Amino acid sequence: MNRKGVAVLGSTGSIGTTALRVLGRQRERFRVAALTANKNDALLRQQAAEFAPSFVGMADLGNRGDDSWRRGTECLIEAATRDDVDIVVNAIVGAAGLDATLAGLESGKRVALANKETLVIAGDLVNEACARGSGELVPVDSEHSAILQCIAGHPRSQVRRVVLTASGGPFRGWSRERLAAATVKDALAHPTWSMGRKVTIDSATLANKALEVIEAHFLFGLPYDAISVVVHPQSVVHSFVEFIDGSVVAQLSVPSMELPVLYALTHPDRVEDTGAPAFDPVALSPLTYEPVNHELFPALGLGIAAGRAGGSAPAVFNAANEVAVAAFLGERISFPEIPRAISSALAKLSGLPGKTREELLGADASARRHVSETFKC
Ligand code: NAD
Ligand code: MG
Repeated sequence: MNRKGVAVLGSTGSIGTTALRVLGRQRERFRVAALTANKNDALLRQQAAEFAPSFVGMADLGNRGDDSWRRGTECLIEAATRDDVDIVVNAIVGAAGLDATLAGLESGKRVALANKETLVIAGDLVNEACARGSGELVPVDSEHSAILQCIAGHPRSQVRRVVLTASGGPFRGWSRERLAAATVKDALAHPTWSMGRKVTIDSATLANKALEVIEAHFLFGLPYDAISVVVHPQSVVHSFVEFIDGSVVAQLSVPSMELPVLYALTHPDRVEDTGAPAFDPVALSPLTYEPVNHELFPALGLGIAAGRAGGSAPAVFNAANEVAVAAFLGERISFPEIPRAISSALAKLSGLPGKTREELLGADASARRHVSETFKC
């Protein structure tokens, strides 16, 4: 069998290492062709020794405008566009992943996208790059993988609505007073998923779900009115799709990113995976649902409003969130200041142009500056 070449961008992270675990079990189908990371040199070396890719890159995108950003971007683009690469797993965190996604799609690759920030910043540009280069965008995010699996074989016109599930994060049920004093350690203690630090904080604020609503809008061409969110603390149902006849289809599995990563590689096919844990509905019961508490977790509503506003607003939302999360992780701002920083940036920077890549990155830079100056972080 002709093995497909896979580039894993961000191979030392949570999704990157998950992808390599999956790829290690699928060696007859896939060959690791390229690896990149921005830190953890020792792990990258170990991965390179194990998988013998033809390209290994240390790409450290520091501050935009720095030489490191330019060199880092060149390295990611090289990994994403190589001739021996068929599939690019983009597992970078944040805006740093944007150019690699665009380049991969423009050169006709399948991009297995974990880096949801790419779609939030520049969803229209990503879809255009996909169309121009005959690339293919397949989600890695578990909720979007679930939707893709549920709608397989149905035209979009038959989908009435999707419902994304949210675990509710570590602060589900907390009081406002308790939340004000939440520590970094509290916020990193996610109840159901083990993930990188940024997405774990995003899950605690529910900014992650806002990013995912925008991601779903661009991936599946759904209007915002057709995307809703429900809290499902067990993280077993990964999303629901309601069809126009009223039937609802859901995708379930124990919470593990291995399945969505594997499906992003094999879609629309399925292959046997010896790593998949057995599904036991009794052991996983009960499955419960509750509404989102928008008062305590305003980041979700802010993000959906930014998505509806369109233009540069989602890029502002994303950049403000990235800076605020880094400041919270560095203990320079409190947990409730994360949504406050996002809200302040969106209020201050509404109406910036947001069509071209340069305009969107300009809005991203303005939002970063605004949050670091206003919140002195
Ligand atoms: P992580 O922090 O664990 O790993 C990030 C990887 O990207 C590392 O290999 C790091 O070296 C590299 N990287 C980070 N910043 C970089 C930069 N500026 N320049 C170059 N390389 C850089 O993150 P993660 O949890 O694996 O998340 C990756 C992406 O996947 C995020 O967009 C996240 O929202 C998304 N996602 C993650 C999960 C999960 O379970 N971890 C689930 C769904 C979606
Ligand atoms: Mg998700």
